[in-house]
Amino acid sequence: MQKFAFKNTESVAHAVSLLKSGNAAVLAGGTDILNLLKTEAFGKSPELLVNIKNIPGLDTISKDSGGLKIGALARVSAIASSEFIKAEYPALAEAAGSIAAPAIRNMATIAGNLCQEVQCWYFRRSFLTGNTFNCLRKGGKQCYAVSGDNRYHAIIGGKGCFAVCPSDIAVVLAALDATIVTSKRSILIRDFFETLGNILDSDEIITGIEIPVVPPGTKQKFIKFTIRPALDFSIVSAAVIITTNNDSVADSRIVLGSVAPTTYRAIYVEESLKGKIIDESTAEKAAEEAVRDARPLSKNKYKVQITKTLVKRAILACGPSSID
Ligand SMILES: Cc1cc2nc3c(=O)[nH]c(=O)nc-3n(C[C@H](O)[C@H](O)[C@H](O)COP(=O)(O)OP(=O)(O)OC[C@H]3O[C@@H](n4cnc5c(N)ncnc54)[C@H](O)[C@@H]3O)c2cc1C
Repeated sequence: MQKFAFKNTESVAHAVSLLKSGNAAVLAGGTDILNLLKTEAFGKSPELLVNIKNIPGLDTISKDSGGLKIGALARVSAIASSEFIKAEYPALAEAAGSIAAPAIRNMATIAGNLCQEVQCWYFRRSFLTGNTFNCLRKGGKQCYAVSGDNRYHAIIGGKGCFAVCPSDIAVVLAALDATIVTSKRSILIRDFFETLGNILDSDEIITGIEIPVVPPGTKQKFIKFTIRPALDFSIVSAAVIITTNNDSVADSRIVLGSVAPTTYRAIYVEESLKGKIIDESTAEKAAEEAVRDARPLSKNKYKVQITKTLVKRAILACGPSSID
Protein backbone atom coordinates (compact mmCIF):
# COMPACT_ATOMS: atom_id res chain seq x y z
CA MET A 1 0.00 0.00 0.00
CA GLN A 2 1.17 3.49 -0.70
CA LYS A 3 2.49 5.31 2.38
CA PHE A 4 0.31 8.02 3.93
CA ALA A 5 0.01 9.91 7.21
CA PHE A 6 -3.20 9.51 9.22
CA LYS A 7 -4.96 12.03 11.47
CA ASN A 8 -8.14 11.69 13.51
CA THR A 9 -10.45 14.69 13.72
CA GLU A 10 -13.24 15.60 16.07
CA SER A 11 -14.84 18.56 14.33
CA VAL A 12 -15.58 19.70 10.79
CA ALA A 13 -13.43 22.83 11.31
CA HIS A 14 -10.45 20.70 12.41
CA ALA A 15 -10.88 18.38 9.42
CA VAL A 16 -11.02 21.33 7.03
CA SER A 17 -7.88 22.86 8.54
CA LEU A 18 -6.03 19.56 8.02
CA LEU A 19 -7.26 19.31 4.42
CA LYS A 20 -5.91 22.81 3.77
CA SER A 21 -2.45 21.68 4.78
CA GLY A 22 -1.67 20.03 1.45
CA ASN A 23 -2.19 16.84 -0.50
CA ALA A 24 -4.80 15.31 1.81
CA ALA A 25 -8.06 13.36 1.46
CA VAL A 26 -11.02 12.52 3.65
CA LEU A 27 -11.32 8.99 5.03
CA ALA A 28 -14.87 7.92 5.92
CA GLY A 29 -15.79 4.20 5.74
CA GLY A 30 -12.61 3.54 3.75
CA THR A 31 -14.25 0.98 1.44
CA ASP A 32 -13.17 2.82 -1.69
CA ILE A 33 -10.24 5.07 -0.85
CA LEU A 34 -8.19 2.30 0.79
CA ASN A 35 -8.59 0.13 -2.31
CA LEU A 36 -7.29 2.96 -4.46
CA LEU A 37 -4.28 3.39 -2.18
CA LYS A 38 -3.58 -0.33 -2.26
CA THR A 39 -3.58 -0.51 -6.02
CA GLU A 40 -1.88 2.90 -6.50
CA ALA A 41 -4.65 3.83 -8.86
CA PHE A 42 -4.54 7.54 -8.02
CA GLY A 43 -2.81 9.85 -10.46
CA LYS A 44 -1.41 11.69 -7.42
CA SER A 45 -1.93 9.82 -4.16
CA PRO A 46 -2.92 11.71 -0.99
CA GLU A 47 -0.08 11.96 1.54
CA LEU A 48 -2.48 12.46 4.46
CA LEU A 49 -5.78 10.75 5.26
CA VAL A 50 -8.07 12.83 7.45
CA ASN A 51 -10.33 10.46 9.36
CA ILE A 52 -13.71 12.12 9.90
CA LYS A 53 -15.50 9.12 11.42
CA ASN A 54 -15.10 10.43 14.98
CA ILE A 55 -16.86 13.74 14.30
CA PRO A 56 -19.98 13.64 16.48
CA GLY A 57 -23.46 14.21 15.02
CA LEU A 58 -22.61 13.54 11.39
CA ASP A 59 -24.28 10.12 11.22
CA THR A 60 -27.85 11.08 12.11
CA ILE A 61 -30.96 10.55 9.99
CA SER A 62 -33.77 12.97 10.88
CA LYS A 63 -36.92 14.50 9.45
CA ASP A 64 -38.69 17.81 9.86
CA SER A 65 -41.29 19.83 7.96
CA GLY A 66 -38.70 20.53 5.23
CA GLY A 67 -38.03 16.86 4.54
CA LEU A 68 -35.29 14.37 5.27
CA LYS A 69 -31.79 15.18 6.56
CA ILE A 70 -29.07 12.55 6.36
CA GLY A 71 -25.66 13.14 7.95
CA ALA A 72 -22.62 12.55 5.76
CA LEU A 73 -21.46 9.65 7.94
CA ALA A 74 -24.81 7.80 7.92
CA ARG A 75 -24.06 4.22 6.88
CA VAL A 76 -25.58 2.85 3.70
CA SER A 77 -27.05 -0.01 5.81
CA ALA A 78 -28.77 2.51 8.13
CA ILE A 79 -30.39 4.20 5.11
CA ALA A 80 -31.53 0.85 3.72
CA SER A 81 -33.12 -0.22 7.00
CA SER A 82 -34.63 3.08 8.20
CA GLU A 83 -38.39 2.55 8.59
CA PHE A 84 -39.07 6.22 7.81
CA ILE A 85 -36.99 6.12 4.60
CA LYS A 86 -38.62 2.86 3.53
CA ALA A 87 -42.07 4.45 3.99
CA GLU A 88 -41.47 7.95 2.59
CA TYR A 89 -38.48 7.53 0.24
CA PRO A 90 -38.66 3.86 -0.80
CA ALA A 91 -36.50 4.36 -3.90
CA LEU A 92 -33.66 5.60 -1.68
CA ALA A 93 -33.98 2.57 0.61
CA GLU A 94 -34.05 0.30 -2.46
CA ALA A 95 -30.88 1.87 -3.87
CA ALA A 96 -29.04 1.71 -0.53
CA GLY A 97 -30.12 -1.91 0.02
CA SER A 98 -28.89 -2.88 -3.45
CA ILE A 99 -25.32 -1.68 -2.86
CA ALA A 100 -22.53 -4.23 -2.57
CA ALA A 101 -22.90 -6.73 0.31
CA PRO A 102 -23.86 -6.33 4.00
CA ALA A 103 -20.27 -5.97 5.26
CA ILE A 104 -19.60 -3.11 2.84
CA ARG A 105 -22.98 -1.46 3.46
CA ASN A 106 -22.16 -1.48 7.21
CA MET A 107 -18.92 0.46 6.61
CA ALA A 108 -19.81 2.65 3.62
CA THR A 109 -21.17 6.14 4.26
CA ILE A 110 -23.58 8.13 2.12
CA ALA A 111 -21.02 10.89 1.41
CA GLY A 112 -18.37 8.32 0.52
CA ASN A 113 -20.83 6.68 -1.83
CA LEU A 114 -21.35 9.99 -3.64
CA CYS A 115 -17.60 10.73 -3.81
CA GLN A 116 -16.34 7.23 -4.71
CA GLU A 117 -14.12 6.92 -7.76
CA VAL A 118 -15.26 5.35 -11.02
CA GLN A 119 -14.95 1.60 -11.62
CA CYS A 120 -13.32 1.94 -15.07
CA TRP A 121 -10.80 -0.88 -15.38
CA TYR A 122 -8.25 1.30 -17.15
CA PHE A 123 -8.35 3.84 -14.31
CA ARG A 124 -8.27 1.17 -11.58
CA ARG A 125 -5.69 -1.09 -13.15
CA SER A 126 -3.35 -2.05 -10.29
CA PHE A 127 0.39 -1.44 -10.49
CA LEU A 128 0.71 -5.04 -9.22
CA THR A 129 -0.54 -6.36 -12.55
CA GLY A 130 1.68 -3.99 -14.51
CA ASN A 131 0.82 -1.77 -17.43
CA THR A 132 -1.10 0.95 -15.58
CA PHE A 133 -2.86 3.41 -17.82
CA ASN A 134 -2.13 7.10 -17.38
CA CYS A 135 -5.63 8.01 -18.49
CA LEU A 136 -7.35 11.39 -18.69
CA ARG A 137 -8.61 11.03 -15.11
CA LYS A 138 -5.05 10.72 -13.85
CA GLY A 139 -3.82 13.71 -15.81
CA GLY A 140 -2.97 11.78 -18.97
CA LYS A 141 -4.06 12.64 -22.47
CA GLN A 142 -6.59 9.99 -23.45
CA CYS A 143 -9.43 7.69 -22.43
CA TYR A 144 -8.28 4.15 -23.15
CA ALA A 145 -11.87 2.87 -23.16
CA VAL A 146 -12.69 4.68 -26.40
CA SER A 147 -10.66 2.29 -28.51
CA GLY A 148 -10.41 -0.46 -25.87
CA ASP A 149 -12.82 -2.68 -23.94
CA ASN A 150 -15.67 -0.30 -23.25
CA ARG A 151 -18.45 -2.75 -22.41
CA TYR A 152 -19.27 -1.03 -19.09
CA HIS A 153 -18.71 2.57 -20.20
CA ALA A 154 -20.95 5.50 -21.10
CA ILE A 155 -23.54 5.32 -23.83
CA ILE A 156 -24.69 8.90 -23.30
CA GLY A 157 -22.78 12.14 -22.87
CA GLY A 158 -19.21 10.81 -22.87
CA LYS A 159 -16.73 13.67 -23.32
CA GLY A 160 -13.06 12.81 -23.04
CA CYS A 161 -13.52 10.30 -20.22
CA PHE A 162 -16.19 7.62 -20.77
CA ALA A 163 -16.23 6.09 -17.26
CA VAL A 164 -19.69 6.12 -15.68
CA CYS A 165 -20.75 7.60 -12.35
CA PRO A 166 -20.92 4.49 -10.10
CA SER A 167 -23.10 5.74 -7.24
CA ASP A 168 -26.58 4.17 -7.03
CA ILE A 169 -27.56 6.57 -4.27
CA ALA A 170 -26.74 9.59 -6.47
CA VAL A 171 -29.28 8.42 -9.05
CA VAL A 172 -32.13 8.46 -6.53
CA LEU A 173 -30.97 11.69 -4.88
CA ALA A 174 -30.97 13.37 -8.31
CA ALA A 175 -34.54 12.18 -8.92
CA LEU A 176 -35.54 13.51 -5.48
CA ASP A 177 -33.91 16.92 -6.12
CA ALA A 178 -31.62 16.57 -3.11
CA THR A 179 -29.13 19.16 -1.91
CA ILE A 180 -25.62 18.36 -0.70
CA VAL A 181 -24.56 20.46 2.28
CA THR A 182 -20.84 20.96 2.73
CA SER A 183 -18.50 22.77 5.10
CA LYS A 184 -18.80 25.85 2.88
CA ARG A 185 -22.04 25.79 0.82
CA SER A 186 -25.16 23.98 -0.41
CA ILE A 187 -24.98 22.28 -3.82
CA LEU A 188 -27.93 20.91 -5.78
CA ILE A 189 -27.06 17.33 -6.58
CA ARG A 190 -27.65 17.96 -10.27
CA ASP A 191 -24.71 20.42 -10.16
CA PHE A 192 -22.44 18.17 -8.08
CA PHE A 193 -20.97 15.80 -10.66
CA GLU A 194 -18.65 16.60 -13.54
CA THR A 195 -17.15 14.27 -16.14
CA LEU A 196 -13.90 13.92 -14.17
CA GLY A 197 -15.37 13.79 -10.65
CA ASN A 198 -17.26 16.26 -8.51
CA ILE A 199 -17.06 19.98 -7.81
CA LEU A 200 -15.84 19.78 -4.19
CA ASP A 201 -12.78 21.89 -3.40
CA SER A 202 -9.81 20.03 -1.92
CA ASP A 203 -10.57 21.50 1.54
CA GLU A 204 -14.33 20.93 1.43
CA ILE A 205 -16.23 18.25 3.34
CA ILE A 206 -19.76 17.04 2.81
CA THR A 207 -21.63 17.35 6.11
CA GLY A 208 -25.07 16.14 5.04
CA ILE A 209 -27.77 15.64 2.44
CA GLU A 210 -31.18 17.31 2.44
CA ILE A 211 -34.12 15.83 0.56
CA PRO A 212 -37.36 17.76 0.14
CA VAL A 213 -40.77 16.40 1.12
CA VAL A 214 -42.33 14.27 -1.61
CA PRO A 215 -45.81 15.51 -2.66
CA PRO A 216 -48.86 13.34 -1.94
CA GLY A 217 -49.78 10.99 -4.79
CA THR A 218 -46.15 10.24 -5.60
CA LYS A 219 -44.76 6.79 -6.32
CA GLN A 220 -41.07 5.91 -6.54
CA LYS A 221 -38.97 3.08 -7.88
CA PHE A 222 -35.24 2.36 -8.09
CA ILE A 223 -34.22 -0.53 -10.28
CA LYS A 224 -30.85 -1.74 -11.52
CA PHE A 225 -29.36 -4.41 -13.71
CA THR A 226 -26.19 -6.13 -12.56
CA ILE A 227 -24.43 -9.30 -13.60
CA ARG A 228 -24.13 -10.68 -10.03
CA PRO A 229 -26.83 -8.95 -7.97
CA ALA A 230 -25.20 -9.97 -4.68
CA LEU A 231 -22.17 -7.71 -5.17
CA ASP A 232 -21.76 -6.00 -8.51
CA PHE A 233 -22.07 -2.39 -9.53
CA SER A 234 -24.93 -1.41 -11.84
CA ILE A 235 -24.62 -1.97 -15.55
CA VAL A 236 -27.58 0.42 -15.80
CA SER A 237 -29.87 1.81 -13.10
CA ALA A 238 -33.01 3.96 -13.12
CA ALA A 239 -34.81 6.02 -10.51
CA VAL A 240 -38.37 7.00 -11.33
CA ILE A 241 -40.49 9.36 -9.23
CA ILE A 242 -44.01 9.97 -10.55
CA THR A 243 -46.71 12.23 -9.11
CA THR A 244 -50.20 11.63 -10.46
CA ASN A 245 -53.38 13.63 -10.33
CA ASN A 246 -56.61 11.74 -11.13
CA ASP A 247 -54.45 8.91 -12.45
CA SER A 248 -52.63 11.04 -15.03
CA VAL A 249 -49.00 12.04 -14.64
CA ALA A 250 -48.71 15.57 -13.20
CA ASP A 251 -44.93 15.50 -12.69
CA SER A 252 -42.08 13.05 -12.98
CA ARG A 253 -38.33 12.75 -12.49
CA ILE A 254 -36.55 10.05 -14.42
CA VAL A 255 -32.82 9.70 -13.72
CA LEU A 256 -30.51 7.04 -15.11
CA GLY A 257 -27.28 5.72 -13.62
CA SER A 258 -24.22 4.04 -15.14
CA VAL A 259 -25.09 5.25 -18.63
CA ALA A 260 -23.18 8.55 -18.53
CA PRO A 261 -20.19 10.14 -16.75
CA THR A 262 -22.68 11.88 -14.41
CA THR A 263 -26.21 10.93 -13.40
CA TYR A 264 -28.41 11.47 -16.45
CA ARG A 265 -31.84 13.11 -16.24
CA ALA A 266 -34.02 11.69 -18.99
CA ILE A 267 -35.96 14.85 -19.82
CA TYR A 268 -37.51 13.36 -22.98
CA VAL A 269 -39.07 10.58 -20.89
CA GLU A 270 -40.46 13.11 -18.43
CA GLU A 271 -41.97 15.12 -21.31
CA SER A 272 -43.53 12.08 -22.90
CA LEU A 273 -45.22 11.05 -19.63
CA LYS A 274 -46.81 14.42 -18.87
CA GLY A 275 -50.62 14.15 -18.66
CA LYS A 276 -50.63 10.46 -19.59
CA ILE A 277 -52.15 7.54 -17.74
CA ILE A 278 -49.47 4.96 -17.04
CA ASP A 279 -50.04 1.74 -18.88
CA GLU A 280 -47.97 -0.71 -20.92
CA SER A 281 -48.09 1.41 -24.07
CA THR A 282 -47.23 4.73 -22.34
CA ALA A 283 -44.33 3.08 -20.52
CA GLU A 284 -42.99 1.50 -23.70
CA LYS A 285 -43.07 4.77 -25.66
CA ALA A 286 -41.48 6.66 -22.76
CA ALA A 287 -38.71 4.05 -22.51
CA GLU A 288 -37.79 4.67 -26.16
CA GLU A 289 -37.24 8.34 -25.27
CA ALA A 290 -34.76 7.34 -22.55
CA VAL A 291 -32.16 6.44 -25.17
CA ARG A 292 -32.80 9.25 -27.65
CA ASP A 293 -29.34 10.67 -26.88
CA ALA A 294 -27.56 7.30 -26.74
CA ARG A 295 -24.35 7.00 -28.77
CA PRO A 296 -22.96 3.60 -27.72
CA LEU A 297 -19.29 2.72 -28.09
CA SER A 298 -18.01 -0.37 -29.92
CA LYS A 299 -18.85 -2.90 -27.16
CA ASN A 300 -21.72 -1.47 -25.14
CA LYS A 301 -24.71 -1.29 -27.45
CA TYR A 302 -26.42 -3.92 -25.25
CA LYS A 303 -26.81 -1.21 -22.58
CA VAL A 304 -29.32 0.60 -24.80
CA GLN A 305 -31.84 -2.24 -24.60
CA ILE A 306 -31.23 -2.72 -20.88
CA THR A 307 -31.87 0.98 -20.32
CA LYS A 308 -35.19 0.82 -22.18
CA THR A 309 -36.30 -2.27 -20.28
CA LEU A 310 -35.42 -0.82 -16.86
CA VAL A 311 -37.14 2.49 -17.58
CA LYS A 312 -40.29 0.70 -18.73
CA ARG A 313 -40.34 -1.55 -15.66
CA ALA A 314 -39.73 1.32 -13.25
CA ILE A 315 -42.48 3.44 -14.83
CA LEU A 316 -44.96 0.56 -14.66
CA ALA A 317 -44.01 0.05 -11.01
CA CYS A 318 -45.19 3.63 -10.40
CA GLY A 319 -48.44 3.16 -12.29
CA PRO A 320 -51.96 2.64 -10.91
CA SER A 321 -51.67 -1.15 -10.96
CA SER A 322 -47.97 -1.09 -9.91
CA ILE A 323 -46.82 -3.91 -12.19
CA ASP A 324 -43.24 -4.54 -11.03
C1 LIG B 1 -17.31 -4.95 -3.73
C2 LIG B 1 -17.95 -3.60 -3.79
C3 LIG B 1 -19.19 -3.47 -4.40
C4 LIG B 1 -19.81 -2.22 -4.48
N1 LIG B 1 -21.04 -2.09 -5.10
C5 LIG B 1 -21.62 -0.89 -5.18
C6 LIG B 1 -22.88 -0.72 -5.81
O1 LIG B 1 -23.50 -1.68 -6.27
N2 LIG B 1 -23.41 0.54 -5.88
C7 LIG B 1 -22.79 1.62 -5.35
O2 LIG B 1 -23.33 2.72 -5.42
N3 LIG B 1 -21.58 1.51 -4.76
C8 LIG B 1 -21.00 0.29 -4.66
N4 LIG B 1 -19.78 0.16 -4.04
C9 LIG B 1 -19.09 1.36 -3.61
C10 LIG B 1 -19.35 1.67 -2.16
O3 LIG B 1 -20.69 2.06 -2.03
C11 LIG B 1 -18.39 2.78 -1.79
O4 LIG B 1 -17.11 2.18 -1.68
C12 LIG B 1 -18.75 3.43 -0.48
O5 LIG B 1 -20.03 3.95 -0.49
C13 LIG B 1 -17.76 4.52 -0.15
O6 LIG B 1 -18.08 5.02 1.13
P1 LIG B 1 -16.95 5.12 2.25
O7 LIG B 1 -17.58 5.79 3.40
O8 LIG B 1 -16.33 3.80 2.50
O9 LIG B 1 -15.96 6.09 1.49
P2 LIG B 1 -14.37 6.20 1.57
O10 LIG B 1 -13.75 5.04 0.90
O11 LIG B 1 -13.92 6.53 2.94
O12 LIG B 1 -14.18 7.49 0.65
C14 LIG B 1 -14.53 7.47 -0.72
C15 LIG B 1 -14.27 8.87 -1.31
O13 LIG B 1 -15.17 9.79 -0.75
C16 LIG B 1 -14.47 10.86 -0.13
N5 LIG B 1 -15.30 11.25 1.02
C17 LIG B 1 -15.84 10.41 1.94
N6 LIG B 1 -16.59 11.10 2.80
C18 LIG B 1 -16.53 12.40 2.44
C19 LIG B 1 -17.10 13.59 2.94
N7 LIG B 1 -17.90 13.61 4.01
N8 LIG B 1 -16.82 14.75 2.29
C20 LIG B 1 -16.02 14.76 1.21
N9 LIG B 1 -15.44 13.65 0.69
C21 LIG B 1 -15.71 12.49 1.29
C22 LIG B 1 -13.11 10.28 0.21
O14 LIG B 1 -12.11 11.27 0.32
C23 LIG B 1 -12.88 9.38 -1.00
O15 LIG B 1 -12.44 10.15 -2.09
C24 LIG B 1 -19.16 -1.08 -3.92
C25 LIG B 1 -17.92 -1.21 -3.30
C26 LIG B 1 -17.31 -2.44 -3.22
C27 LIG B 1 -15.97 -2.55 -2.54
